[in-house]
Amino acid sequence: MGKAVEVEIANKIAVFLKMIRTNNPFQEEFFQAVKEVITSVMPFALENSKYVKYKVLERMVEPDRIVIFRVSWQDDNGEVQVNRAWRVQFNNSIGPYKGGMRFHPSVNLSILKFLGFEQCFKNSLTGLPLGGAKGGSNFDPKHRSDAEVMRFCHALMIELHRHIGENTDVPAGDIGVGGREIGYMFGQYKRIVNKFTGTITGKGVDFGGSLIRKEATGYGAVYFAENVLNFRGDSLKGKTIVVSGSGNVAIYVTEKALNLGAQVLTLSDSSGYIYDREGFNEEKIAAVKEIKEIKRARIGEYVKIYPKAEFHPNKRPWEVAADIAIPSATQNELDEEDAKKLIANGVQLVCEAANMPVTLGAIELFNTAKVIFNPGKAANAGGVAVSGFEQSQNSLRMTWSAEEVEDRLKNIMKDIHDTCVKFGYNKKKSDIVNYVDGANIGGFVKIANAMTTYGVV
Ligand code: NDP
Repeated sequence: MGKAVEVEIANKIAVFLKMIRTNNPFQEEFFQAVKEVITSVMPFALENSKYVKYKVLERMVEPDRIVIFRVSWQDDNGEVQVNRAWRVQFNNSIGPYKGGMRFHPSVNLSILKFLGFEQCFKNSLTGLPLGGAKGGSNFDPKHRSDAEVMRFCHALMIELHRHIGENTDVPAGDIGVGGREIGYMFGQYKRIVNKFTGTITGKGVDFGGSLIRKEATGYGAVYFAENVLNFRGDSLKGKTIVVSGSGNVAIYVTEKALNLGAQVLTLSDSSGYIYDREGFNEEKIAAVKEIKEIKRARIGEYVKIYPKAEFHPNKRPWEVAADIAIPSATQNELDEEDAKKLIANGVQLVCEAANMPVTLGAIELFNTAKVIFNPGKAANAGGVAVSGFEQSQNSLRMTWSAEEVEDRLKNIMKDIHDTCVKFGYNKKKSDIVNYVDGANIGGFVKIANAMTTYGVV
């Protein structure tokens, strides 16, 4: 590519991003997600006149619709509580909307738009017919009783049910929304519409849920990392890993990493991180599950059970030396300062199991240092893939075995890896795969082709 063409593309990206800023004020997370995608996709899209003519990129950054609603409910003291909830239906060009619900006090429109936008590319990468969406509320389940969580979920569904359906929009879990919340939401949905359908995924296995759904995002991310290493003639065996978070994703990242012969040294939550030099074995992972999922307590409790481990309050685990980092908690939890520490300690691979946990500045530092970087939209797509399997099983009225689901998951993660290589490996430019370009372009193509086929809609 000549210098003049490079300058022209850079100008087009700058104009596009200026438009995003103007049209979406105060939406930093959304801007960050769009910037990453547009930087990869614009050069590719400009080479194809139909994408330009049909203004595919301009349409893709505008959600199909956003529903915003009030959720009123009563707490255990009889006091009325009011929360806000959203459903961002981003793009259904290749299938019904699909994406999780997040309950966390930090939830706002910018965060849900970034997640919904990312979800479109991720879902496309799975190869399944799934559109992209995301939703959630600023409700915080952490300090609430089971009865309060139930009343909130039931109240939320009184409005949400109008906008979802097995062929329209299929919500699932995310931060703050696990089996308990899904159960309450699905129970209320089923009661209102008087139908038992696969409209929500992540259900309990006794009532329509898929085996391996709970494990899928974490397992999938580790399979993705294994594919990345295999592509370079290496493997996870014997590697050390730093993981953040101790929720659904982090726990199953740890379990599968152990299974493939690696050693996870850290886990965390919003109160700090734990460092276990000996690594987490099955018994220790069970203890973390008990602390976080059953007792719903803080991660520091771990050192009361395993006093040789350390608890570092209010700190993030990126200061611990390891071969691989797998951020698995939340967006922007690994910044430039953290990246410098990881690079200085010789990290080789950073694999996003959470959504956008690494800042753009940190990604740049990893690229410069030739540390392989895997974006979440590729690496954590295993969760939504198995949600897609759950929808299929519900439609077929069948239950696949755990082995069958895991085999399918493994194959999808391999296919996503191959897609990233296809669109992100340019030997003339670099001897390492650019997984960001690969995932963005690989996810874009299917949606863009569908959108141009539909005409101007
Ligand atoms: P969980 O709610 O199960 O766990 C989230 C974990 O992250 C907890 O340990 C939580 O700590 C920590 N955390 C949340 N917010 C913050 C914060 N602001 N600062 C520090 N730590 C924080 O969520 P999941 O494990 O399901 O999700 C984790 C990530 O993976 C998210 O980015 C999600 O979008 C992404 N993801 C999840 C999928 C799934 O299938 N669940 C699918 C694809 C992506 P604490 O307990 O203190 O709040």
